[in-house]
Amino acid sequence: MARRSPAKPSLTQQCPPPDFLLDVVARLLQRYVPVLPAPRRFPEPLSGVVRVLLAQQNTRWVAQRQWEALQATYPQWEAALLDGPDGLETTLRRAGGGLTRMKAGYIYGVLAALEEAHGRLSLEFLRDLPDAEARAALEALPGVGQKTASLVLLFDLIRPAMPVDGHIERWAKRLELVPEKWNVNRVEKWFDEALPRDWELRYGLHLSGVNHGRETCKSQRPLCAECVLLELCPSAGIVLSGDRE
Ligand code: SF4
Repeated sequence: MARRSPAKPSLTQQCPPPDFLLDVVARLLQRYVPVLPAPRRFPEPLSGVVRVLLAQQNTRWVAQRQWEALQATYPQWEAALLDGPDGLETTLRRAGGGLTRMKAGYIYGVLAALEEAHGRLSLEFLRDLPDAEARAALEALPGVGQKTASLVLLFDLIRPAMPVDGHIERWAKRLELVPEKWNVNRVEKWFDEALPRDWELRYGLHLSGVNHGRETCKSQRPLCAECVLLELCPSAGIVLSGDRE
């Protein structure tokens, strides 16, 4: 009989969360989002997917311009599907920004996949699926990776996902919550295991964590002296003295 290989340890077994993890969350919430804003939420989750695809490797302003251009040109997604990838690319290019060919291809791919699988350009069915199945259905769409799926789950479907971007990854590593060598997807999975499955807590941590990386725990010159995590952070002195820069 073939011997079963031992189960792989989970990420939180490999790297146990510190006792102060929820203190980190509380301090960031208090500092950056003491009152949680309502999430940006599209009535149709498909719009959320397209909006997040546009935001990838784009500034906020360009993504917004491209989104407005799509809306003005295609009042219904069916019109975008009919226009095809070339038409979508022309619409995006007129609005400015880069990677228009790739983004047009992804958007067209998502629309075509939904048409083929469901005969309907909608992701409303995700609302009836458990979290893991909704994630799997999202990640099966062209151009939709772990982070894009997490953003749509958190914002549009109000599910307890924990999207991690470069800002959150940076301070998580400086706090030594996770090993330096882990990639961003692994860091996200670690947070997903380590945090309570509470939508409000994760939504607040995502918003405040991005702000913390942008405003305080910056890539080049972190403002450690004014950081609410200073006394919890083993990297403060090191970063301040320039050893890690
Ligand atoms: S103390 Fe400095 S390095 Fe540590 S989290 Fe705060 S800003 Fe980042």
